[in-house]
Amino acid sequence: MDFSRVALSEDDESFRDDLRSFLNDIVTDEVIARDRETGENFDEGVHMALGAAGYLAADFKSEADGGFSRLRKRIWDLEIGRARTPWFHWGTTAMVARAVDRFGSAELKDEVLEKTLSGHFRLCLGYTEPEGGSDVATCKTRAVRDGEGWIINGSKMFTSNAHNASYVFLVTNTDPDAPKHQSLTMFLVPLDSPGVEIQALRTVDGDRTNITYYSDVRIDDRYRIGEVNGGWAVLREALNDEHGTVERLDDGLQKVAVMSEHVLLLAEAADKVAASAADEDSVKYRLGRGIARMEAAMSTPDMFGRVANAQIMRDVAPELMDIMGVASSLPVGEKGAIGDGAAEYVFRLAGPTGIYGGTLEVFRNMIAQHALGLGRPNYSPPVKKTL
Ligand SMILES: Cc1cc2nc3c(=O)[nH]c(=O)nc-3n(C[C@H](O)[C@H](O)[C@H](O)COP(=O)(O)OP(=O)(O)OC[C@H]3O[C@@H](n4cnc5c(N)ncnc54)[C@H](O)[C@@H]3O)c2cc1C
Repeated sequence: MDFSRVALSEDDESFRDDLRSFLNDIVTDEVIARDRETGENFDEGVHMALGAAGYLAADFKSEADGGFSRLRKRIWDLEIGRARTPWFHWGTTAMVARAVDRFGSAELKDEVLEKTLSGHFRLCLGYTEPEGGSDVATCKTRAVRDGEGWIINGSKMFTSNAHNASYVFLVTNTDPDAPKHQSLTMFLVPLDSPGVEIQALRTVDGDRTNITYYSDVRIDDRYRIGEVNGGWAVLREALNDEHGTVERLDDGLQKVAVMSEHVLLLAEAADKVAASAADEDSVKYRLGRGIARMEAAMSTPDMFGRVANAQIMRDVAPELMDIMGVASSLPVGEKGAIGDGAAEYVFRLAGPTGIYGGTLEVFRNMIAQHALGLGRPNYSPPVKKTL
């Protein structure tokens, strides 16, 4: 289905127009400038306004449960992106809320869900550890029984948006002697618990993330999500959600692959280069080749699209900078920056895009193993031939 040819009903048109003007009012130039400056991908005022207007709840819920229709969901995704809404962490919050909804106790759902959909609570992910993130199951953060509750000790790398969040969805190890997939227990840890420390970390593209430390953090058993040592079943669902491998409806309205919104930034950067440098045939050729690859990446579904999107950013952003010459290395807001630093920004964004939520190498392995049926990767050293 070609979405550009979908005829909108009057109701859907007014939904789009209302949403567009709502976003126009709340996502101001100041909000966008502050977001670029701080790298937070989050704005409290915007988030609360979207919650109060019922948009967060409508995005979270199924249509049968009062959420957006498929068409409105698509309009919503497009308008949120076009407005440059600092928005990235809503995906994480919604993902964790789905895990709470599916696996949490009734008490925990009552405590968390309503306030999450109103915007008051944000939820973040505590998977990655200082010693490695690709293999989430090799978790060293320990949770130990303490009467009716638990005591948690450990640390997590890249706990993005923790400083704006109320809870972290934490992977812990509750049985170090068990095989790794049977040693995990998931918790939703309140971030205001004594013993939690949040330390800021900036990445190369300017994103703000965090290291979080947990020292003798005591929590009640109601914060456990799923069975003790049964955390892998909970985590696997959430990871499938994050990896974009969850089955989507095939009606042409779905977002084709996660992270395609980042490629839209690349497309804007390419437009800016085309506007100022597309006189020469060699430049036209290089731009045309890049744009064709972008289009192909953005039309590629699921895991394949995720790899294609991140790879194309890594390939085309430096090409744009090469076409524009040395001044293209000046960042956004800098005097003399070409195309307002757009290509330089995407160049820096491309690195982390191929890392967070799973690296390109790990996704390529997943494709090889699960989609192409090539078997498990073999990491043993090559056999030395004896002469
Ligand atoms: C901006 C940003 C935000 C993030 N936000 C969060 C967050 O909110 N919460 C969270 O928990 N994590 C977050 N992460 C962490 C992210 O998920 C991890 O960085 C990622 O999973 C890789 O883990 P690692 O950095 O520990 O690298 P490692 O796992 O140590 O990998 C190092 C290198 O080895 C390669 N490698 C590892 N295993 C394999 C394999 N099996 N086959 C082939 N190559 C392999 C990797 O591709 C990589 O090149 C974030 C990361 C970034 C950069």
